[in-house]
Amino acid sequence: MPDSIIPPTDPAAQRPAGMGTQAARTPVVLLPGDGIGPEVTAATRRICDAAGAAIDWRAAEAGAACFAKGIATGVPRATLDLVAEAGVVLKAPLETAVGYGGKSVNVTLRNLFEMYGNLRPVKELPGVKTPFSGRGIDMLIVRENIEDLYAGIEHMQTPNVAQSLKLMSVQGCDRILRLAFTLAQAEGRKRVTCVTKANIMKLTEGMMKRRFEAMAPQYPGIAADHLIVDNCAHQMVIRPERLDVIVTSNLFGDILSDLAAGLVGGLGVAPSANVGARVAMFEAVHGSAPDIAGKGLANPTALLLAACMMLRHIGQGAIAQRIEKALFRTLEAGTALTADLARAHPPVSTGAFTDAVIAALELAPPAQAPVAAAKLATPAVPAATIVPEKREVIGVDVFVESRGPVRQLAEAVEQTIGDTPFVLKMISNRGAQAWPATVELEDMVDHWRCRFVMKKPGAWATEGHILALLQRVSLVTSWIHIEKLQRFDGEDGFSKAQGEA
Ligand code: NAP
Repeated sequence: MPDSIIPPTDPAAQRPAGMGTQAARTPVVLLPGDGIGPEVTAATRRICDAAGAAIDWRAAEAGAACFAKGIATGVPRATLDLVAEAGVVLKAPLETAVGYGGKSVNVTLRNLFEMYGNLRPVKELPGVKTPFSGRGIDMLIVRENIEDLYAGIEHMQTPNVAQSLKLMSVQGCDRILRLAFTLAQAEGRKRVTCVTKANIMKLTEGMMKRRFEAMAPQYPGIAADHLIVDNCAHQMVIRPERLDVIVTSNLFGDILSDLAAGLVGGLGVAPSANVGARVAMFEAVHGSAPDIAGKGLANPTALLLAACMMLRHIGQGAIAQRIEKALFRTLEAGTALTADLARAHPPVSTGAFTDAVIAALELAPPAQAPVAAAKLATPAVPAATIVPEKREVIGVDVFVESRGPVRQLAEAVEQTIGDTPFVLKMISNRGAQAWPATVELEDMVDHWRCRFVMKKPGAWATEGHILALLQRVSLVTSWIHIEKLQRFDGEDGFSKAQGEA
């Protein structure tokens, strides 16, 4: 782990080494979580307390137990109030029902408190042997935490077709990119790599890439490059030591950071921080691991390292340093490791591993010199709002549900819109043009996009035109939603279908 994520931004927050006084205890909301959460939380708290952390722990509820009590969001009001007041949270993993049920409480907390930056340092740990040991892996993944498919804005379009909206904004891209460059600068790192899928999603992922390219020249001391996400996954395995800071969108960051954790010892050792302007929340990268919950098998290292990031954030860097020394000594000794890391010696329980780290604290006395605070302050990003000089609505996509052959749909639609200002340009199915047919598509689903453009070249569609068009379309088929075809300052604000001219 780097000594600090960000060097001191707030000299007043520097604290002499050693224990704080009762009065100087920092309030931290503690969410013990689900599954293995309570086990790794208890271990982490014991070690922090034994190391002399001056923390006023404020345990609160969230997650499965709250859903069971009928709290629809999984987070009670009292917990939200505590988080808003304290501004610092240590959170164990929370379970999210997979494929059904309530929203993720993790995502709810990140979104409600606008913690837009998710920082995941990935570094080789002493004594943790992996096929990549000795390669010098030391990267920081900076993951956008609020936008993208992760927002989970989903609608069934027909009984057979589901949709998830991928929203990315200029503001969202700018602030995560700014955070990545600021962190790179503060930690003396050399390179920031922007990871996207801009070759396919040219508007959403492409926005991230374009904003990155526009911002990079403001940081002349830092090399800036771009990787397509699939190649990044490949590079992570082939040449992980070449990667330094990675900045990426929410879902890709989620996946890549689990991959990265696997390079340095697995999910049991990967910490993270969620940061925003008002709240910072520290957690393990891993989830609630229900398969090993309650068995004393969980490795608390990930949450403990997250607690060390938190201690630096609240100005208790000396304590963080002491805990890390004791932890690294325990990992290097290798005699008391949990099952995920144990090699030469039989594995021990979560509790026995915790005892070993606490015992090692004796060999890691508190530092005498002051240790710099590393407050995870998010950089101020001026609100970027692009106001185009010219906006043209050149047509509209109308998504409809239909089960008949596409030719029949096209004929019916063309007939019904005869006296509107629109012409039917094409119909696509899941992104590929089906009518007029370029090739005969197979296995169509009951969700079609009818693309209408203005008959008269250069004419613009008004809201009135579109409403009248929808009325006509609804006479022959059931429409689901629409998307305006907009052009901003002459640039198309929509993608073409595969096969569309
Ligand atoms: P997971 O909980 O991360 O666990 C995956 C596997 O990783 C476990 O089965 C276990 O492998 C290993 N593992 C994870 N943490 C470990 C630890 N501390 N010590 C030792 N081994 C550990 O992923 P999942 O099973 O896909 O997700 C379970 C639940 O967690 C889901 O409800 C998911 O939504 C939630 N989740 C929450 C968060 C969060 O709170 N931020 C993050 C991710 C997932 P072995 O089987 O090899 O022991």
